[in-house]
Amino acid sequence: MDKYQVLSKISRANLERDVKDLATRWPTRHTLSKHHPAIVAYLSGKFKALGYPPKRHVYEQAGKSLSNVIAQKPGGSGAPILLCAHFDSRQEDLHAPEAPAPGADDNATGVAVLFEVARVLKDTPLRVPLRFALFSGEEQNLWGSTAYAAECKQRGEKLTLVFNLDEVGYPDTEKHLFLDRDERGRPENNAASAKLITRLEWLARNVVKVPTRIDPAEASDYIPFEAQGYTITGLYEGEYRYPHYHKSTDTPDKVDFGYVKDMARLTVAFLLDYAR
Ligand SMILES: [Zn+2]
Repeated sequence: MDKYQVLSKISRANLERDVKDLATRWPTRHTLSKHHPAIVAYLSGKFKALGYPPKRHVYEQAGKSLSNVIAQKPGGSGAPILLCAHFDSRQEDLHAPEAPAPGADDNATGVAVLFEVARVLKDTPLRVPLRFALFSGEEQNLWGSTAYAAECKQRGEKLTLVFNLDEVGYPDTEKHLFLDRDERGRPENNAASAKLITRLEWLARNVVKVPTRIDPAEASDYIPFEAQGYTITGLYEGEYRYPHYHKSTDTPDKVDFGYVKDMARLTVAFLLDYAR
């Protein structure tokens, strides 16, 4: 059987449905908005419906108890791969938690890809566990991922690698998928990240057949893991090209769902290649 057959199960319609749902169900997904608990419950319900028991990871910030949502695909042995995306959003004023912030590209797209990956790989055995993390507080300087990475490190937990999805819906004219390489922070985990990039480039060229470019990893949820010494990479549409970035106009009509699907296909191809 073709190793990559499961790629054909990735559904553009599912990706579109999830992005639209996340961007329109609440006026904002700002972490300090009154909607935060309902959003956490919704995301937990999505994991449950996909067959993964969800867990809430609670941390304290700004005098509040805030949540990330975690789930894990069991099976295999050894250290889990962590696939992550932030579910919070913002608009022009970070300090207006109830102002409309649909956050379609940033980062309903990453959340939608994560759910679609979870769905298509549900019954595919992998040689390591695959853990899913949906982080909050990314827009406030990585609150959720910082708290979670610190706890992983504190309990001495090994992670095979951390793979981040942030803004995966607004391509440049050539529709490059940007591969995030660890080039900064601690030097000792850079080589491992570069190796993953080489593999991603090969898969993009030969299996998924999409063009890629490399960007330095920065300013998203993999950074707190990088700082703790973990191996990181991720996918991204490219640096600050999106005209609706952090604006109330970041709505689903701006998203290229064919491109989002390519992001999901490369993520799944990588997981099949690396962990099967
Ligand atoms: Zn983002």
